[in-house]
Amino acid sequence: MLVVMSQELPDQPPASSGGPVGPVDSSQVPRFAGPATFARLPRADEVGRADVAVVGVPFDSGVSYRPGARFGPAAVREASRLLRPHHPGLDLDPFAAAQVVDAGDVVANPFSIEQAIEQVEAGADELSGAGARLVTIGGDHTIALPLLRSVARRHGPVALVHFDAHLDTWDTYFGAPYTHGTPFRRAVEEGLLEPGALTHVGTRGPLYGRSDLTDDARLGFGLVTSADVMRRGVDEVVDGLRSRIGDRPLYLSIDIDVLDPAHAPGTGTPEAGGMTSRELLEVLRGLAGLQLVGADVVEVAPAYDHAQMTAVAASHVAYDLVSLMALSPLHGASEQTDGAQQ
Ligand code: MN
Ligand code: MN
Repeated sequence: MLVVMSQELPDQPPASSGGPVGPVDSSQVPRFAGPATFARLPRADEVGRADVAVVGVPFDSGVSYRPGARFGPAAVREASRLLRPHHPGLDLDPFAAAQVVDAGDVVANPFSIEQAIEQVEAGADELSGAGARLVTIGGDHTIALPLLRSVARRHGPVALVHFDAHLDTWDTYFGAPYTHGTPFRRAVEEGLLEPGALTHVGTRGPLYGRSDLTDDARLGFGLVTSADVMRRGVDEVVDGLRSRIGDRPLYLSIDIDVLDPAHAPGTGTPEAGGMTSRELLEVLRGLAGLQLVGADVVEVAPAYDHAQMTAVAASHVAYDLVSLMALSPLHGASEQTDGAQQ
């Protein structure tokens, strides 16, 4: 019996010859064979260096409604087998422009949110300390807080575009400060975000009260609702975001429930009236060239999914995030990478 490991037949030269190691060649090994890494990319330990690392955080102990996002990373990897190496929308071969790897999963304690947050922060620090920018697959939205702590430690307070049906700037649930509905209030309180450069995109649905909106605005967030995206269109939304972000380091946090349940049913707190996957991908592509220092895709809960719809959408979102990073090497990133290779 021949067992094909994920990197037995890479379609590009090994790292020792200098170029990035790409995905398994799908003309030689069927897409449905072998263990699933993101986009069939090499594992981090197979190449020893990374410009961009896709990392999973299988954690969902911070959810307020339907659990199940702990199975998100595995579902997104499985759905990512069909991704191909050329991105026509950006005219880019992301896996040749940068060394992209699958860094596996951060081990996060399912019985202690506080410890899980520490573990995610430490895991992000370790990977970024070795020179990689992270695209993190959740997991519930709680994990955005430790991820933002890690990027802010390296880059200072960051601009944020937060795609979500929900504000996620509530204060507490049942007295708990660290949940999937509170990460961005905590991030503002901790000084991780750049006031005036923060925007929610795709918000909709009933709130606890009007004060949810006034509290959120007081924290410094701008709002582009799902209805705004429909009325203004992608180009106007992109123009507004780009002028708000400017040349600041940017973090993108994408709760898959920003998509309409027709596009992404597999999530914990679905809300009708959301963006289409086409709109989301086009807004992301509109942010090309900005200084993207980190990103996450969260809240994929495959038990509620159908025909991999949500996981496929999330895998394409992650592919676009990787591509945005591959397109725009960070200012000064080469010194970091050199240091990490020692
Ligand atoms: Mn949400
Ligand atoms: Mn969220």
